[in-house]
Amino acid sequence: ETGETRRTRTTDTHCPYCALQCGMGLRPEPAEPGGLLVVERSAFPVNKGALCGKGRTAPSVLSSRVRLVRPLIRRASGRLEPASWEEALDRVAEGLAATRSAWGADAVGVFGGGGLTNEKAYTLGKFARLVLGTSQIDYNGRFCMSSAAAAGTKAFGVDRGLPFPLDDIPRTGCVILVGSNLAETMPPALRYFTELRANGGRLIVIDPRRTRTAEQADLHLTPRPGTDLALALGMLHLVVAEGRTDEAYIAARTTGWPQARAAAMAHWPELVERITGVPLPQLRAAVRMFCEAEHAMVLTARGPEQQAKGTDTVSAWINLCLATGRPGRPLSGYGCLTGQGNGQGGREHGQKADQLPGYRMLADAAAREHVARVWGVEPDSLPGPGRSAYELLDALGADGDRAAQRPDAVRALLLMASNPVVSAPRAAHVEERMRALDFLVVCDVVLSESARLADVVLPVTQWAEETGTMTNLEGRVILRQQAVEPPEGCRSDLWVMRELAARMGWEKGFPTDPEEVFEELRRASAGGKADYSGITYRRILAEDGVFWPCPDPSLAPGTVSGAGTPGEMNDDPSNDHSAAGHPGTPRMFLDRFATPDGRARFLPVSHRPAAEEPDEEYPLLLTTGRVLAQYQSGAQTRLVDSLNEAAPGPFVQLHPRLAEKLGAAEGEPVAVVSRRGRAVAPARLSRDIRQDTVFMPFHWPGEGRANTLTNPALDPTSRMPEFKVCAVRLERA
Ligand code: SF4
Repeated sequence: ETGETRRTRTTDTHCPYCALQCGMGLRPEPAEPGGLLVVERSAFPVNKGALCGKGRTAPSVLSSRVRLVRPLIRRASGRLEPASWEEALDRVAEGLAATRSAWGADAVGVFGGGGLTNEKAYTLGKFARLVLGTSQIDYNGRFCMSSAAAAGTKAFGVDRGLPFPLDDIPRTGCVILVGSNLAETMPPALRYFTELRANGGRLIVIDPRRTRTAEQADLHLTPRPGTDLALALGMLHLVVAEGRTDEAYIAARTTGWPQARAAAMAHWPELVERITGVPLPQLRAAVRMFCEAEHAMVLTARGPEQQAKGTDTVSAWINLCLATGRPGRPLSGYGCLTGQGNGQGGREHGQKADQLPGYRMLADAAAREHVARVWGVEPDSLPGPGRSAYELLDALGADGDRAAQRPDAVRALLLMASNPVVSAPRAAHVEERMRALDFLVVCDVVLSESARLADVVLPVTQWAEETGTMTNLEGRVILRQQAVEPPEGCRSDLWVMRELAARMGWEKGFPTDPEEVFEELRRASAGGKADYSGITYRRILAEDGVFWPCPDPSLAPGTVSGAGTPGEMNDDPSNDHSAAGHPGTPRMFLDRFATPDGRARFLPVSHRPAAEEPDEEYPLLLTTGRVLAQYQSGAQTRLVDSLNEAAPGPFVQLHPRLAEKLGAAEGEPVAVVSRRGRAVAPARLSRDIRQDTVFMPFHWPGEGRANTLTNPALDPTSRMPEFKVCAVRLERA
């Protein structure tokens, strides 16, 4: 049952999945309350009517037979059984409070998701820090683009996925796309790159596999997994050696060039050729294409970012852009293609372990002061930064020997919009840690692999059943509008947090109306780097989204009234600043970067090997990724028949020569074994992959779970795990 449609005509909204946040219409069929939702094309400028199969079929998840519509509690029988909302919420509040009083606030953890709306992400951060008083909150976006965020912040003073709109791509001269298979992960975005080529621009794709995206390229470089950093350094070396640097730009707009230059010059092209496996003529051709274009961009995605040196790798690509005078110039620069639907907004508003709303840092006294004022509490009452996502998952449970080893263990966890049993690195270990918890609460729409381990499962509403803002990969804040009433037994995450807060002594401060929450978020973000204070729901609808930063000076720090007033602005029409307000910022850094001196910073970085290199026992490299018909852990897309027919299960992509050595034929099960475990899936033979590398998609649980194998070695800055490269061996299964 989907419940009743809210309207009798088409509602403009957005896809529930990836960071492109394609616009779509949802029309009830028949055209009356109670009709099933049909997807219609929309004129939204990002996707211009195009949708991929995931978006087109998204409404069927609303009416899935396995949709959760009642809370579940694990009973004495050991089984999850239906319960009333009253009983379930009481049980959750008691469980979290009991853990907190027995073991301290930091024994309670919160794990959020990059699919949560801005309003939910904001409220979850506030709930963790005020109601639970815990520092232990992070989210699965840490696994998405945290390395790009860290490198972008170091170089430019702030990170916004793309600091320019997608519309700039067809008009630039050359794009280097590093580690993105957007033709499968966000197919409507491919149009920007085909238009680029139609306009005479060049596309260079860097990927160890010949993907559908790489097939579109003018030049495809296939480095050994884990060597993107060396590749960028080799290109920068050639840029310098061939006299292609933009010295005037470097002098006027940057700092740190001598050190970065020296680091790059230590990476001789011949050495880089040996490390990466990319032939020197190809490296030279890439440099030529990139430098000879008047305007040019580098765009990175998970390939270079999901490495234990992900931050340095992105810094190396940014250095290449800075040395050639790209960032902050029209139709040029560096950008990151965010993956999750709200990977961008999800980290801007406080569910990240070290951040407060508005991209403020938790360790910054002025930031704490401002946010505490909006929340009506003392700054000292806010906990400090907590553990990053994998470190938090690794710290779960104090069973057996770990009770002594981990006196600081997290013993109770509230999990919202995430499925780490499938999506976390070293997933079997993470699953074991989740089983060892004293108390696990999961808010989800279906009984995901993680929800199956819970003590209490709370069935929540999803995208078309509620309203809320998302921030797409361009930094464009968009509004998902409710199109349908949720099933009777489901409640919004905002309502759940309000009810839990009330049971734990916070009667006020947790509104359930999304617009009311957004109004408070505006004030909390005011003056921060991700400043949303000039954005309103009305503006978003009228302007097809608004790009942050978009300040409203009347809400700047110092002008914000005390707390206890969330919602007060909502009733006042004069608070719609659309008429005279800031226009938003589609293009950033044109005049200055967001650093104290306004200059971008070069970071001197050097190549280092992956955390785990092949050896006699594990002679191959594994890399992981996504396929066209599934999304992330697959908890939703695996419910859609047509998507399952297109992508029914995991596979191991390997080169035919490797298969021959193994004696494995197409479709035969092969085992991939790493130091962390073993995964079995059918062989898919392909000449589109290097002979020293195998690939597995990560959307499935069970024996083909790719993340059983992946390495949780962390980047020292971003704390990103090394999903994209680890050492494995193959066995016939
Ligand atoms: Fe668009 Fe991404 Fe949704 Fe596909 S999954 S329709 S690309 S937002």
